[in-house]
Amino acid sequence: MKGSNKSLIRRNAVRGLIAMAVMLCALTGWAGAQSLNERKANPLQAGAAVPVLSKNNLPADVMQDLSAPAVNPAAAVTAAPRAGQASDTGSAIAAQRDVAAEVQKAKGKADPKADPKTVYLTFDDGPSNVTPEVLEVLRDEGVKATFFVLGQQAKSHPELINAIWEQGHAIGNHTYNHNYHDLYSGFTEFWKQIKQTEEAVREITGIRPRLVRAPGGTYGHFDATYFELLKEAGYTVMDWNVDSGDSRRKGVPAAEIIRESLSLQASRVILLLHDGAGHAESAKALPQIIARYKAAGYRFGVLDAAQEPVQFRVSASAAARIKPSDAWIASNITPNAGLFGPGKPLILEVGKQEVKLDPGEYRIRKGQYVVPLRAVIERLGGRVGWDTVNRSGSVWWNGREVSADAGNKRLTLISGDGTLVTRESDVELIGSALWLPLRDLLEESGHPLLEVKVTAEERRVKAL
Ligand SMILES: [Zn+2]
Repeated sequence: MKGSNKSLIRRNAVRGLIAMAVMLCALTGWAGAQSLNERKANPLQAGAAVPVLSKNNLPADVMQDLSAPAVNPAAAVTAAPRAGQASDTGSAIAAQRDVAAEVQKAKGKADPKADPKTVYLTFDDGPSNVTPEVLEVLRDEGVKATFFVLGQQAKSHPELINAIWEQGHAIGNHTYNHNYHDLYSGFTEFWKQIKQTEEAVREITGIRPRLVRAPGGTYGHFDATYFELLKEAGYTVMDWNVDSGDSRRKGVPAAEIIRESLSLQASRVILLLHDGAGHAESAKALPQIIARYKAAGYRFGVLDAAQEPVQFRVSASAAARIKPSDAWIASNITPNAGLFGPGKPLILEVGKQEVKLDPGEYRIRKGQYVVPLRAVIERLGGRVGWDTVNRSGSVWWNGREVSADAGNKRLTLISGDGTLVTRESDVELIGSALWLPLRDLLEESGHPLLEVKVTAEERRVKAL
């Protein structure tokens, strides 16, 4: 109830001004923006991946049909003189009519049933202290976007990941530390960072991002293996087709970012922007970028893993690196797709705690649940150490220490006074992770099973 009539009038006047500025900019910047964008057009990969729909997709497509205030010449014409900005009202009106016609043309055929042009705003490298400002603009404009976040940043700003999520934007995975040297030395390192970031986001939102954007883009970085294995694991790799240029050098001014961001004839724009530290100018440019796309009749979409991805082609400069072994692929990539498949989750209730393992995060072998030691214990608040030489792991949880030994297939409870209680257990080293029967783990750590239940939605194990 704070808004008075006066402020409403002022806001409308400001809107009129913006609408007019937008039109004049559109008139003068049209040709320039187009040729620039052609120049930066990226080599798209032919026969792009067709991703699979699943329940774990990022939030349902939040497409918004936005009105395009500046394409109504009458409204713009009346707004402009009132604002007292046009010194030559006659020519300003003529110019506006021209622009309105251009905008109408850019909107494509006037058939309202035709697919509207869509722009996907994407923000990489955050969240950071720039993110709140970006979120504020998006909220004020009623626009949704996609944030490709870094795991490292998610860990240090969980509240911003929450804010992004709660505001209805999509979250994608931009690796953990953005370090090209690490990420492009070989696929297994890239994979490690994708999973690390996925876990960080899952802990905050409960959702695993399926969209992946490669730091620096895939061009010159990904070989065919990177593309193939990520697809097989259930992810959708998304590059971009318009670069705002906001990371081309330090401190690119907002005016330049606006100019570079506009590609007002493409039917599907995936615009690269940044909300990492030092990108305040991108946040500053955002209201104008949104206004220009709205004026040209675009709607704003959020990306999801089921959409046709934009991917750069594999270049000769991205020399193929050593492909992971078949055993590594079988233990890491193949089961991962199950995370996004239709299987049931396994819920563990241990005392007052409850943790969920998604399909693909556990296995069933000879009627027994087999689980990855680290994932389960860490989610239950315990700690896991790893002894490479002995191929064994140590668990510290609820005041107990248990050692899991894959070489000798046994579990050992180490008591405070040094006594050892050992039991046979089918502990297995799969890839670089220790897996073991859930029942053995719970019993050895003092939580005997109480109940095992399977319903249409889930599998549930209760322990003391
Ligand atoms: Zn980046």
